[in-house]
Amino acid sequence: MTSPKNRAVFLDRDGTLNEDSVDYIKSSSEFRLFEFTPSALRIFQRLGFLIIIISNQSAIGRGLTTQRAVDEINDVLKSTLQESNISITDIYYCPHKPEDKCDCRKPGTGNLERAIAEHNIDAAGSYFIGDSQKDIQTGAAAGCKSILVKTGINSPLFRAIQNWDRRPDFVAENILEAAQLVECLERSRNK
Ligand SMILES: [Mg+2]
Ligand SMILES: [Zn+2]
Repeated sequence: MTSPKNRAVFLDRDGTLNEDSVDYIKSSSEFRLFEFTPSALRIFQRLGFLIIIISNQSAIGRGLTTQRAVDEINDVLKSTLQESNISITDIYYCPHKPEDKCDCRKPGTGNLERAIAEHNIDAAGSYFIGDSQKDIQTGAAAGCKSILVKTGINSPLFRAIQNWDRRPDFVAENILEAAQLVECLERSRNK
């Protein structure tokens, strides 16, 4: 007998949960969680979603930071959220540069597929939320619903989005608005 599948919200990190920077987030001193992020994640958790981060960290491959520093940032993120009783189920990140042609750098679905398999997830019942086109492409390729948030440093214009091959299912101002939207969708789904 197989156990029922889990549902998840897959989240981009930089520009979605925390302030992004053109110079990359290279150390925990540069890490600034958006003040509304804990409230948003609390909603997802209450709705029964696993919370999984899928992130590109090419600053490692570019030699601007180290795997150790990225792990430390992620530990800060996890412990900060733990104080609000939010647990992150898992974090996957790609350390490679675009030229490395790996399968785990978004829009590649390597890390997402791994997460789906390792945590027994129903992709169609899950969401991928991020601030860039790559996030939307990644989520859509795996069959998740996608939400674009406008808190990144290069937030795409509405007109540009119309020309994307995969358009987001929804666009939200930020992760909290995205969580409120998912909450509404869940309510109508359970009716
Ligand atoms: Mg981002
Ligand atoms: Zn990679």
